[in-house]
Amino acid sequence: MKSHLRVLKFGGTSLGDAECIRNAVEAVAKAKSGGPAVVVVSAMSGVTSQLLDAATHVTQGKPKMAEDLSRFLLDHHELAIQTLISNRNVAIRCFAELEQIVEGAACLLETFYKDKGLNPSALDGLLGTGEQLSARLFAAALQDRGLNAVPMDASKLIVTNSAHGNADPLMDQSRDRILRLVPTTLKRGFIPVVTGFVGATEEGLATTLGRGGSDYTATIFGAALNAEEIFIWTDVDGVLTADPRSVPEARTIPEITYQEATELACLGAKVLHPKTLNPVSGKQIPVWIRNSFNPTASGTRIGAQRKPVSRGIRAVTCRTDVSLIRVRTNARDQFLSQAVRTLAAPEKAIAQFFPSSTNISQDELLFVAGTEEIEASMRLFDNFKALAPRQMGLGNPQIDTEIALVSIVGNSLDSGTSRRALKAMSRSDIQPRAEVQGLSKNNLCFVVPQESARRTLAAFHREFFENTGDD
Ligand code: ADP
Ligand code: ASP
Ligand code: MG
Repeated sequence: MKSHLRVLKFGGTSLGDAECIRNAVEAVAKAKSGGPAVVVVSAMSGVTSQLLDAATHVTQGKPKMAEDLSRFLLDHHELAIQTLISNRNVAIRCFAELEQIVEGAACLLETFYKDKGLNPSALDGLLGTGEQLSARLFAAALQDRGLNAVPMDASKLIVTNSAHGNADPLMDQSRDRILRLVPTTLKRGFIPVVTGFVGATEEGLATTLGRGGSDYTATIFGAALNAEEIFIWTDVDGVLTADPRSVPEARTIPEITYQEATELACLGAKVLHPKTLNPVSGKQIPVWIRNSFNPTASGTRIGAQRKPVSRGIRAVTCRTDVSLIRVRTNARDQFLSQAVRTLAAPEKAIAQFFPSSTNISQDELLFVAGTEEIEASMRLFDNFKALAPRQMGLGNPQIDTEIALVSIVGNSLDSGTSRRALKAMSRSDIQPRAEVQGLSKNNLCFVVPQESARRTLAAFHREFFENTGDD
């Protein structure tokens, strides 16, 4: 049975400065007046990237970065404390706690400098510093507003596998730990303010859930606690028909299904971490995407069903963190069937494989792989090639990193959608390198030169959302 609990997650920009935090505090106060609430916070905007940057620099022999980072973190958070917190004792206690956390980060950076390398667990420990700071700051801001709040470290509650930097929760164990602590805290009338993004292995080694992972923290907690609803407060009016930074004409989608939203996130829509909906879709807990800068906008509801239930195109999106791998072969069909089985298995490095296209030559096959995983993909390909029959005539792979994968997401997309997309590109003078087929019947993806990505998005948006009644 669902509890009346709500989980509220605030992203980095929603906690960007004292003013934003004040708005977030008001959203929590409003939710709390209707029942118990758990808050999940990201680091203040930009902090995680600064931590990563500092770690990279110190391992390259630039120790000054550690000092600069400590100063930046303290100044940034101190300014927020001064502006936000009127009770002197609360402010002093909060700052002392933050100083200790920053000292811990400085020690880790010193180890990285001495070792000239990054231990993956220590790096995850460092990257979680931003959330350690913001959880304490946010709890203090709630206390100052007269609400009982307590910071809670998710690394003690979310047990993960050891995939540092992109870990997955072990749900049973995480649920046990969450249920042991959170309900008693709520019963005592406190609002837990949970650090997003972080977890730890069973042995207690720090992990993180991947960049943007606080969304995932919110749904892990929501599922464990059987929340009634989860609210992801961010800086846009919901899930839109396109990223408004690339397509200013994009409009809010009032309702979207778990599956549609997941496809969008996997194909590049940054508004959600791609795994966010995994813990809640089976339990049918609705997830709302709301704008903390425009709290009266109703946002997007993500659920099992949506209205209207008609088929159609939901949004367009784009990934630029992918590369195109081209392989020559003189036995295309044979290579195809074997490669699909061995290279394109979902757990393998080459996550996306597309066998056919309107404009690739018959003796060439194309793959799309994450640019970060390109070395792993190539190792996989070499193993495959070593075992493949010689008459397949496999050539050496050519890699092009300057591409983008632009996608149309909807349901039951057909050849008519593809024809319209190709025409729209042709009108805008965009030459697609390939059309991706076979990922799922709910999306259509095109590989285009990276420099044409934005124009392709705009062309698709015009074609499918601005010229027709489709939505
Ligand atoms: P937060 O810090 O709140 O987690 P993110 O920056 O991770 O926020 O995600 C919000 C951003 O996602 C928006 O500012 C927007 O530019 C981007 N975005 C990309 N695609 C979409 C989309 N389809 N709908 C809404 N926002 C999108
Ligand atoms: N602070 C982390 C990041 O920047 C997690 C998050 O924001 O969700 O990736
Ligand atoms: Mg995010």
